Amino acid sequence: MSTQLSNTSFKFIALGAGNEVGRSCHILQYKGKTIMLDAGVHPAYQGMASLPFYDDFDLSTVDILLISHFHLDHAASLPYVMQRTNFKGRVFMTHPTKAIYRWLLRDFVRVTSIGENSILDKDDNLYTDEDLVESFDKIETIDYHSTVDVNGIKFTAFHAGHVLGAAMFQIEIAGLRVLFTGDYSRELDRHLNSAEVPPLPSDVLIVESTFGTATHEPRLNREKKLTQVIHSTVSKGGRVLMPVFALGRAQEIMLILEEYWTQHAEDLGGSQVPIYYASDLARKCMNVFQTYVNMMNDDIRKKFRDSQTNPFIFKHISYLKNLDEFQDFGPSVMLASPGMLQSGISRELLEKWCPEEKNLVLVTGYSVEGTMAKYIMLEPETIPAANNPDITIPRRCQVEEISFAAHVDFQENLEFIEKINATNIILVHGESNPMGRLKSALLSNFSSLKGTPGEVHVYNPRNSVDVVLEYKGIKIARALGNIVDEIQKDNIENLKVEDVTKQEAAAEIKDANEDEVIVSGILVSDEKNFDLNLVSLTDLREHHTELSATVLKERQTIAVNCKPELVYWHISQMFGDVTVLEDSANVSIKPDETNIAKKEEEHADISDDILVMQIMGDVQVTVKSNLATVEWTQGLINDTIADSIVAILMSVDSAPASVKMSSKSCSHEHGHDHEEGEADVDITHASKIQQIVKLFKEQFGESFVLSLEDKKEDAKTPEAIKGKITIGKNIADINFSEMRIEQCNSNPLKGRIESIMSIGSDLVSTLC
Ligand SMILES: [Zn+2]
Ligand SMILES: [Zn+2]
Repeated sequence: MSTQLSNTSFKFIALGAGNEVGRSCHILQYKGKTIMLDAGVHPAYQGMASLPFYDDFDLSTVDILLISHFHLDHAASLPYVMQRTNFKGRVFMTHPTKAIYRWLLRDFVRVTSIGENSILDKDDNLYTDEDLVESFDKIETIDYHSTVDVNGIKFTAFHAGHVLGAAMFQIEIAGLRVLFTGDYSRELDRHLNSAEVPPLPSDVLIVESTFGTATHEPRLNREKKLTQVIHSTVSKGGRVLMPVFALGRAQEIMLILEEYWTQHAEDLGGSQVPIYYASDLARKCMNVFQTYVNMMNDDIRKKFRDSQTNPFIFKHISYLKNLDEFQDFGPSVMLASPGMLQSGISRELLEKWCPEEKNLVLVTGYSVEGTMAKYIMLEPETIPAANNPDITIPRRCQVEEISFAAHVDFQENLEFIEKINATNIILVHGESNPMGRLKSALLSNFSSLKGTPGEVHVYNPRNSVDVVLEYKGIKIARALGNIVDEIQKDNIENLKVEDVTKQEAAAEIKDANEDEVIVSGILVSDEKNFDLNLVSLTDLREHHTELSATVLKERQTIAVNCKPELVYWHISQMFGDVTVLEDSANVSIKPDETNIAKKEEEHADISDDILVMQIMGDVQVTVKSNLATVEWTQGLINDTIADSIVAILMSVDSAPASVKMSSKSCSHEHGHDHEEGEADVDITHASKIQQIVKLFKEQFGESFVLSLEDKKEDAKTPEAIKGKITIGKNIADINFSEMRIEQCNSNPLKGRIESIMSIGSDLVSTLC
């Protein structure tokens, strides 16, 4: 199923919750990292059939698994993944999610195991209590708003509303940020905060689409409707069955009922009408809700502070461990699990109460396709008995749906999506039709951006179908140390770098701001964690102790069969700018014939004298004992200069000027006629100029005129070689002897001339 990914591809696969609600499980892949989001079961199926399509993906490649919240459609197959597959990644969830998960899944194991009216074979159980215990210990917990880094995958949990402990995850890999909403709610309710918008933007948004384009009625209206319909049912002696998921929204409904019962005690005939919650699990988890009151909204925290009592301990609501303790005499309100009416207490009560017209089934949660909760809303004539599908039970009871499912409606979702501002939106957790409608609505909402860089793409992938997005990855380098001071006045922390490759690369970084600041330093790329740091050379050790700066030095030694003064003379003729660092024989001071003659008298064939020269700033030549050593720091310019010097050193004893210079010393033997000593001393310089002039002729053609008047008149003080370029009104006078522009009235032309001169110098430097 998985295709080979290029380095710039981001891949998304829904192993579950693609065009459906249930068995949430998504895979993200980018830059060789694999993240799994949620591991749920499908409430409409049982056993292996309820699992996400785990066979379609190699779970052993998953680095981390993030669980958004404790609902079974997001978390119930986690022990299976951890204990029964080749998965070996790390698992994270928030503290409250883990606390509730423990109780919830134990209950899930019990409910789905044989003995609980189940038609399942024992082998069909997804996992055992032991699996649950073992996996539980391996689950790591995270706090909201703190960022965890696992080998370059950074993720941060944000409040998602929905249920206690529910988290959104913003995941960052190599600068690409993906936000996964999980199930989320933007409505402030009685106990939870609404979902947050993460402060950093996201490139990809994976968002739930449960309600598609539907609009929720205002919260107050729904509360009013709920209490009214319950009140009127019990007033007529009827029973109200509210199928709820054990934890989460049930607590919210209970807070509403508790408040209403307190305020309307008299209308309800004192405390004559009991409210029950048939969930031992919910009772056990009350301490979890108490523990995490600090993670709920201000309202509930204030209630807790003021009364010093747990707001989840209710006066008007009693817990039932099971139906054996329930005496079904008159009107009552019953909250019962499971929420989908598939089996268990809620189903038992449904079958018992649905034949009576005065009773009411009140659905407050989201009903998954294919479940009894969904079916009953069609108000069928009969329903099948859970234990025996051949038996049908007449349905005459009332059926109402008032949703308190904490999922966003279209308007809330759209507002949130606009705030996230991602250009790629992947829809999950929605039945095909609402999801499709949401996709169309989003596309039309963002249609004005079509064809612009901000164009919004919306995907509604089916299970196991890849969505591949290309991210070329604008890389952000973090500036550290000295370099920050360099650029601080422009207050730039993040620099955009076009392309970065290996472990270390010296780079010139261009900032994308209007005021461009160019800084240079060493770009250190941590391939594992995708961190890019820009540091100055001197800071490298401090920030990256594992790295050391190596400056590549080159050295070349050449035998020179001549005196050091000859070497000095040739090099200074060629480069002019020669700094003498050491000169024990003072050859650089008087490189004249007197000196040479004097040296001749001393007759030191192999002298210990040392001459050290620095040429063009960075190339060093050491002449000692007839050996010349050239040393330089690698670099384009230095390499070129060094090449020229080596060329000079290799030809120094055969050059005509050398012959002249050394004619009296005669310290070496070669076949040159001494008469050649008459040659112009400037021959190398002159030939260099000629080459450059040639280049100018080629470049400027007829626009270039050379003036060489009186050139040969006096060889000892040669006339400067000059040239003139005339292009329309633009005129430039060039002195080639001094290699400078005497005057030029056009900056572009001047720049062009300068670059030709510089190219020319490089080109001809080795020719002499
Ligand atoms: Zn949920
Ligand atoms: Zn869900």
